[in-house]
Amino acid sequence: STRTKIKALLESDETNVDVTVKGWVRTFRNNQFIALNDGSTNNNVQIVVDFENTDAALLKRITTGAALSVTGTVVPSLGKGQKIDIKAKEIEILGDSDPEKYPLQPKKHSLEFLREIAHLRFRTTTFGAIFRVRNTLSFAIHQFFQERGFVYLHTPVITASDAEGAGETFHVTNFDLENIPKTENGEIDYKQDFFGRATNLTVSGQLEGELGAMALSDIYTFGPTFRAENSNTTRHLAEFWMIEPEMAFADITDNMDTAEALLKYVIKYALDKNKDDLEFLSTRLLDEEKQKPQNERSEMTLLEKLQFCLDNDFERLTYTEAIDILKDSTPNKKKKFQFLVEGWGTDLQSEHERYLVEKHFKKPVILTDYPKEIKSFYMRQNDDGKTVAAMDILFPGIGEIVGGSQREERLEKLEQRMDEIGIPKDELWWYLDTRRFGGCPHAGFGLGFERLVLFVTGMGNIRDVIPFPRFPKNAEF
Ligand code: ATP
Ligand code: MG
Ligand code: MG
Ligand code: MG
Repeated sequence: STRTKIKALLESDETNVDVTVKGWVRTFRNNQFIALNDGSTNNNVQIVVDFENTDAALLKRITTGAALSVTGTVVPSLGKGQKIDIKAKEIEILGDSDPEKYPLQPKKHSLEFLREIAHLRFRTTTFGAIFRVRNTLSFAIHQFFQERGFVYLHTPVITASDAEGAGETFHVTNFDLENIPKTENGEIDYKQDFFGRATNLTVSGQLEGELGAMALSDIYTFGPTFRAENSNTTRHLAEFWMIEPEMAFADITDNMDTAEALLKYVIKYALDKNKDDLEFLSTRLLDEEKQKPQNERSEMTLLEKLQFCLDNDFERLTYTEAIDILKDSTPNKKKKFQFLVEGWGTDLQSEHERYLVEKHFKKPVILTDYPKEIKSFYMRQNDDGKTVAAMDILFPGIGEIVGGSQREERLEKLEQRMDEIGIPKDELWWYLDTRRFGGCPHAGFGLGFERLVLFVTGMGNIRDVIPFPRFPKNAEF
């Protein structure tokens, strides 16, 4: 049969034609009005049932959650808000749903409750909208890079590298855990493991990505990364997707320009493509804001925030300038930031990042030139001997969304830094080869995909913007 998707049906205003739609019942009122949804849009199509001429046994099976196929005539709508209804001629139950047991009732459920039934939450208006926006953003990311001639490079999921401390790793092994081979000294004998060495799930594709850029010029990765993050925050997952472009013949300014352009491009793309979903999410957020005391409410709606982000240049300043601002600021009741007792050289906490973005500049911020001690060995050393060409992008409500840098392309400088920190050079011989043979200035960054989805959807918890969240004690489905 030819099935019409509900989105397409609602967008055309042709009436007096027969169509077949399939979907799940959201509500069934007065034995007469079915709100049917098929996930193609947030909007339901209203099915008008001729109950006097419909079998009572069939009517009973039209329950919330049931899957239906409906054939009928498109007619001008009786109700408000919708242009058309379908006057049912034939209703077929494809799958029953016991109303006593179906966890999703036609009412507003809390996000906490929905997290416990993450296998069914796709069927709610909120999560339908989130995952369609997520889909659009991932498509837009590919399109941005493809338009600019970047090569999509697949970096390995299983690797021997931990990207030098980017995050805690998950080990990969095929040892029989009851019987792990040991060496004479009683240490685990990884030589006998599948790969003949210790391996883990990737925490970042950057080092491998650099190898690609040193030949293909501009590459990007877009894949899952894994970090055994111990903290239970609203911004960290154990499995998250990261976009990592790497560009040869590029410096820190090119890097900032690319990241800012990418973020604006994909946000604009979603605003155009998923207008309905974002309007819905904006209203949802507004309802949530109304629960808060007046002075804590956001001044802008979600749609306004997104538009504001497009219309304004991101503020660019150095870490040192940021510290000066924070030093003189009094975030709450004349109390200064505690950490500044320690002063220059300490890493910013998310409260400091959010202060800069939300209170001081009131827009996205790019911080550059961090102290080398708090950044990775591969970042390019600045002439001052103290800082590196790092850049973090901070977003309102999110904090860090992008971390990147110009990379150290000078072999001597790189080796000297590795020695200082105590990173074994022999293990990274392949990485150092790119500097030995035709090394050149290059730069790149990592964009956390879920943090982007979090920003665009206005949701508050990262567990709500990935279909199957992985976090401590949670991996059932
Ligand atoms: P954070 O300071 O928030 O822990 P990070 O500095 O450890 O982040 P990077 O190694 O710079 O993270 O990774 C690049 C990007 O990946 C970050 O800017 C962020 O957007 C995202 N990211 C990092 N860790 C996580 C995580 N556990 N879950 C989701 N996204 C993450
Ligand atoms: Mg981290
Ligand atoms: Mg960080
Ligand atoms: Mg970072």
